[in-house]
Amino acid sequence: MQLLDIERQPDVTAADGVGLPVSGAARRVFVETYGCQMNVSDTELMMGVLKEAGFRRALRVEDADVVLLNTCAIRERAEERVVGRLSQLSSVKRMRPDLVLGVSGCMAKHLAEKLLNQLPYVDLVVGPDSYRRLPELIGEAAGNPALDVRLDRHEDYLDLDPVRQEGTNAWITIMRGCDKFCTFCIVPYVRGRERSVPAGDLLRQVRIAAAEGFREVTLLGQTVNSYHDGETDFADLLKMVAHVEGIRRIRFTSPHPSDFSDKLIDTMAEESKVCRFIHLPVQSGSDRVLKAMERIYSSGRYLDLVDRLRSALPGLCLSTDVIVGFPGEEDSDFESTMALMRHVRYDSAFMFKYSPRKGTVAFREIPDTVPEAEKTRRLQTVIAQQTKISGEINRGYVGHLQEVLVEGDARRGKGQAVGKSDGFKTVVFPKNGVRTNTFVDIRITGATSHTLIGRQEH
Ligand code: SF4
Repeated sequence: MQLLDIERQPDVTAADGVGLPVSGAARRVFVETYGCQMNVSDTELMMGVLKEAGFRRALRVEDADVVLLNTCAIRERAEERVVGRLSQLSSVKRMRPDLVLGVSGCMAKHLAEKLLNQLPYVDLVVGPDSYRRLPELIGEAAGNPALDVRLDRHEDYLDLDPVRQEGTNAWITIMRGCDKFCTFCIVPYVRGRERSVPAGDLLRQVRIAAAEGFREVTLLGQTVNSYHDGETDFADLLKMVAHVEGIRRIRFTSPHPSDFSDKLIDTMAEESKVCRFIHLPVQSGSDRVLKAMERIYSSGRYLDLVDRLRSALPGLCLSTDVIVGFPGEEDSDFESTMALMRHVRYDSAFMFKYSPRKGTVAFREIPDTVPEAEKTRRLQTVIAQQTKISGEINRGYVGHLQEVLVEGDARRGKGQAVGKSDGFKTVVFPKNGVRTNTFVDIRITGATSHTLIGRQEH
């Protein structure tokens, strides 16, 4: 679950045709993306493959010849949403039998047989290592359901150019798969073993993104800081990317706490383009539970890392992932998580109730002992504590200046714009003609636990 942890799984759902030319006589494709940033990046990759093969973009399901749901398998709820959406789309398919309806991504790998056997309106199931074959599989699906969910430990798609979604941030997938095998996580089984894209190819992608006008890049990987292409490690890569002209901000997600070297911390301190924000999944504050999760660090080592990061990177903002109700989690374990979160004082956190995922070690070997009602109570307790802490931290920004990359119109509040600070805070301010993808200085005048509010400083 390291969004691609794709430890972080905010419920991103993007529905679009990601930058392909619109309309025309060629077959038109519409993609909906579920799950983490890695899936958003994979959708851009799929669009690159489809564009090469002559497909064009549809802006609506109604205009599409092919509808793909690029899916996430991290949580059961994500899979349920996709199954519900497929059921909705089956009525479109009843009226237009020639419509190709496909499922790609992690859920395709996790539930391939179920999808084809139980949902007869699904024509195409394609796993994360088979996007190269999409045009061919779409062709085959016109007759019979087409399936390719093989894992390929050599597939890194390095020669393919993504069609990037419009926006202010370019996602660059620098490594795929995961070798950590946390006991609760399905990722290594649906995305395969870890492999890194050569640094030279990544730099080419970053330069293309800069030439396209992107000022911010986010380097993606399941355990992004374990990147190593044989010569270049993650710290080296950050340095190289920082030297690409035009790029002003570099983010990455998600690092694994056990792969945070001193060299990496020093590099972050030296390179001011690397944002002062880290999503650092902890999952639990109890050593007993961390061991059962096979997280390969203790709470003490994690806290030591937080100290080293904060002393090297003043003003660092931190977020995390937490699972409550892991099998065997006692009240005292939960209290340890609460205490660790009070100690670290994260800027924000993604907090979840444990739910067993078929195919994982925890599902097979560790009975789910914590009653659902108790999981819910613990989740509500931890959310309430974090909301209070986030609000306190954010109110500390009032009166201070933040450099904000403008993302566009705010969803709420007429005439308001929204953007992100270096520390990944969402900042809302009067639009007053500011342009998307520019940097503005915003004086913070108010704050909630999720948002900073301000006005432009001239
Ligand atoms: S196995 Fe562990 S490190 Fe790997 S993606 Fe899952 S949660 Fe992250």
